[in-house]
Amino acid sequence: MDILTETLRNQLLDRKQRLNSLAPAAGAHNLLSLLRQVDAALERLDEGSFGICEVCHEPIEADRLLANPLARTCLGDLDSHEQQALERDLDLLAQVQQKLLPPRHQQFDGWEVCFDYKPFRVASGDYCDVITGCDAVNVLLGDVSGKGVAASMLVANLHGLFRTLLPDGCNLAASLARANRIFSESTIASHYATLLAMRADTEGLVTIANAGHCIPYLIAEQEVVPLSSTSLPLGVFADASFQVSEFQLKPGDSVFAYTDGLSEARNTMEEEYGAARLVEWLRTACGLSPDQMVKGCLADLEAFRSSTGLSDDLSILLLKRR
Ligand SMILES: [Zn+2]
Repeated sequence: MDILTETLRNQLLDRKQRLNSLAPAAGAHNLLSLLRQVDAALERLDEGSFGICEVCHEPIEADRLLANPLARTCLGDLDSHEQQALERDLDLLAQVQQKLLPPRHQQFDGWEVCFDYKPFRVASGDYCDVITGCDAVNVLLGDVSGKGVAASMLVANLHGLFRTLLPDGCNLAASLARANRIFSESTIASHYATLLAMRADTEGLVTIANAGHCIPYLIAEQEVVPLSSTSLPLGVFADASFQVSEFQLKPGDSVFAYTDGLSEARNTMEEEYGAARLVEWLRTACGLSPDQMVKGCLADLEAFRSSTGLSDDLSILLLKRR
């Protein structure tokens, strides 16, 4: 039996036990109906028809089954009531996700942070947060593997994790190692997250840890310099450690970060936006304000894509020393 089936069976048996303990006291009709549904799902598991859509006979989406092991049809074959309920849930999910984001433009002691965040579908697998603590501002940009609801739930998990760990953890590498351990133990095996973590102090020193994320660029006096990646993504190995590098930024210098929704965007000719075009654009944009820079980069991407739509979640962020 594979791990997914075993997890689902255990979940179902656990739910059955809870229902059994509630049913006699409540005597409610809907509890008995739920119990029958759980039994039917356990039977489907035994006879091998579990996870197969009863309408089109194709497999039901795995993340939906994990969220609701009682599901009997694939997304495409939901009836209209179920579809409306799902749409309401997704709208709510998108609202919750927007509320978790920091303000789009913020200023701190000597620093300015500006970003844009565009989900590909309703909910995004990109993670972005700005957290103060230890006399510094922490800027985080990440990307959970996969898209949609499952990825967005892990993004919410990262928000909670770093808002708890970072304000008191003055050692960035140690905070990341701790976050990685907790994330590894709480996430399903197929998911991981790339993450760029930057801590900027009042003296202009930026400490950077890059856990497998797209390479950010240091923009200093017309020069655009890549800040190379060093560590594995979060959630790959619970025991991973994280290297940090330090850079001194002068007033006017900035760091440009993004998710692969930018670098891997494609145009109608199937060409990638890519690092070379990005660096070239950044060179021409050195004198712009952070706001103009983020908007300008989005405009350049749009000009490149022309009629092609987004194909991935997209985030762009600029950290500038004032
Ligand atoms: Zn179906």
